[in-house]
Amino acid sequence: EILTNLPLEPDRPHSSHCGTCSRCLSACPTQAIVSPYVVDANRCIAYHTIENRAVTLPTEIAKNLQGWVAGCDICQDVCPWNQRFAQVTDVEDFQPRPENLSPRLDELANLTIEEWDRRFISSALRRIKPQQWRRNAQANLAHSPHPAQDDN
Ligand code: SF4
Ligand code: SF4
Repeated sequence: EILTNLPLEPDRPHSSHCGTCSRCLSACPTQAIVSPYVVDANRCIAYHTIENRAVTLPTEIAKNLQGWVAGCDICQDVCPWNQRFAQVTDVEDFQPRPENLSPRLDELANLTIEEWDRRFISSALRRIKPQQWRRNAQANLAHSPHPAQDDN
């Protein structure tokens, strides 16, 4: 934060570039984008898997996880602006760690504090605490048709 009494000129508000597109609204698996530009966090998989610290996930979220354990961001993946302009970073520190790219649900469902500490050291994923990893993975396994074979 910067506190100042300087008279600053604000930027212009961002303009809309969505046009007639509604891909993100259609693609969201939990209908969390309730209208253009409005996300209901209570329906969002990313919110629940990362920020929600409750012991259990709401049933409507749990049964729609489809393997997600840390965010979702389908809305970002389908956006034509991201598809057209996003570039893969060449910064080595930002590359995903191989063991965290497609983690096994059965491992995460029993994640210990020691293992969490090792796997997510200096990682943004560290925001998700061990209990949340276990909860998210267990919710996936409970709602998977073939829990023993799923590994994401
Ligand atoms: S992160 Fe996933 S659940 Fe949340 S608004 Fe985007 S598509 Fe929907
Ligand atoms: S997918 Fe992108 S361009 Fe399309 S409505 Fe959503 S934010 Fe706008």
